[in-house]
Amino acid sequence: MTKKISIFGATGSIGTSTLDLVEQEPGRFEVVALTANRDVQGLAAAARRTGARIAVIGEEALLGDLRAALAGSGIEAAAGAGALVDAARAGADWTMAAIVGCAGLPPVMAAIEAGGVVALANKEALVSAGALMTAAAARTGARILPVDSEHNAIWQCFDHDRPDRIARILLTASGGPFRSRSRAEMASVTPEEAVRHPNWSMGAKISVDSATMMNKGLELIEAARLFPVPHERIEILVHPQSVIHSMVEYVDGSVLAQLGTPDMRTPIAYTLAWPDRMTTRAERLDLVRHGRLEFEAPDEDRFPALRLARAAVIACGARPAILNAANEVAVAAFLGRRIGFLDIAAIVEETLGRYDPPAPRSIDDVFSIDQDARRQAEAAMKVFVD
Ligand code: NAD
Ligand code: MG
Repeated sequence: MTKKISIFGATGSIGTSTLDLVEQEPGRFEVVALTANRDVQGLAAAARRTGARIAVIGEEALLGDLRAALAGSGIEAAAGAGALVDAARAGADWTMAAIVGCAGLPPVMAAIEAGGVVALANKEALVSAGALMTAAAARTGARILPVDSEHNAIWQCFDHDRPDRIARILLTASGGPFRSRSRAEMASVTPEEAVRHPNWSMGAKISVDSATMMNKGLELIEAARLFPVPHERIEILVHPQSVIHSMVEYVDGSVLAQLGTPDMRTPIAYTLAWPDRMTTRAERLDLVRHGRLEFEAPDEDRFPALRLARAAVIACGARPAILNAANEVAVAAFLGRRIGFLDIAAIVEETLGRYDPPAPRSIDDVFSIDQDARRQAEAAMKVFVD
């Protein structure tokens, strides 16, 4: 039987890796919907190649262009935020959530409400609305399977029937491109340097997050949302080679790890074939070539994002959503050359210090916290720009 699938963020780094797996096995998958934000040509080409039923472009103004690009194909064209949510309800058994940022939250929630399997790459949505998302999944029977390589590794090593027998989660971090740089050296790094990750090829936003180590901070919150283990038992471990994707320690001292090459097709394939496995074209791991694996403790003084994220997961409530929104604003400003690299974490900290709204009780609450935090972060940024 073919599996009906949809890919949100089909033109991005995760989206194209997902398409690669889907196209590698013609006949195994039926594509319901593909979406992108602005890349009309990339979206239309992928929709034609895979015979998708629906193609949705985020930017409303691009609907005419998308219609033109799909002319004669019979593929339904749609545009805008509402159309993204409608596409999430269009009957897929498996949905890849690979939009970047909190902007991906409405379609993710719609996919969870619809039941089925939700392969979650969009960590910002889970950081901002985690408890609401997991509660909705418990209600509808949707399965959230983590795509993020670390969480996918933990998922594979985790005894889901006996979480009480887990002593620690060891969340590994590459340390990013500035792992050995001093604060003084980091002060002048450019967006080009920051997006050049030593091991992984990824979208611009997550690459900058990796350089500030906010990515690991968001992943700490993500792990606390996904796994029934108290946050104080989730430890970050720097492992520059990114061979071990994360580990789970049991009460008897056994430590289970998942290893592989840095290719997102492996964790994506795990979620796509689950509960089965599928072959991938990912390069095989050659441990002899690596020779040695290294580990070091994370440095919260050089990477304050780690400290901010840990504080947010302890306080919980609205703090993770504020942390995420302020970080999205600051990363965009850094990529736009409006602020320096070290200002990113400083703006997040300044924003968190400005106010403390109550915990969100609904998705609408999450949106208003997200929007307020963006305004607060823009105001906080003036201090750094002037
Ligand atoms: P990317 O920038 O390469 O792609 C983002 C995709 O989202 C694109 O298809 C874009 O068109 C779409 N998009 C962006 N803004 C949108 C909006 N406002 N509305 C609708 N669509 C929008 O990003 P990526 O690297 O593929 O990352 C996607 C998500 O996966 C992020 O949350 C990231 O943290 C997570 N992730 C990525 C990797 C990786 O290796 N790239 C690894 C782990 C987790
Ligand atoms: Mg990751």
